Amino acid sequence: MGLYSKWKDLVVYFVQTQGEDAFWDEYVNIEEGIIRKILINHKNVFKGKVADLSKEFNTSPALFIGVVDGLNTALKNPLNLEDIEEDAEISLDIDFEKLYINISEAEAEELSSLPEWNVILPKEKLAELKLKYSPSKTLVTPEKVGRNEACPCGSGKKYKNCCGK
Ligand SMILES: [Zn+2]
Repeated sequence: MGLYSKWKDLVVYFVQTQGEDAFWDEYVNIEEGIIRKILINHKNVFKGKVADLSKEFNTSPALFIGVVDGLNTALKNPLNLEDIEEDAEISLDIDFEKLYINISEAEAEELSSLPEWNVILPKEKLAELKLKYSPSKTLVTPEKVGRNEACPCGSGKKYKNCCGK
């Protein structure tokens, strides 16, 4: 059985045994962790075997593929998920503008408000995309980064001495 089928079985099993709300709580946490790590490392492309990448993101291969399914349309080279096994080599080369659009369309505020967006796309661009693509047109732009806080790009420097210059 392929990983993608395993993922779908896992969703059905989880929802049947613990309910849909419990599933979404769990999934949203894992998804946010993965997306946050991708945003922090946006200058690099994550690539390698699915088994190794899922370890790097602290999750199981089936759950990892579930999150990749959600990212797939924002990949520069979308994956054929049905064919992917644990030893498949994949590359997560992300079009971040497209990802932000997808997140806005899905009204996933917990993802669109991550402070890491501030160092990937200009503030005006984020606001413009949000306004254009979110169904409810509410404008919640990414959390502001304090000047003395650690820069969301992951450099370890203060924001004011790095991307917030
Ligand atoms: Zn920075």
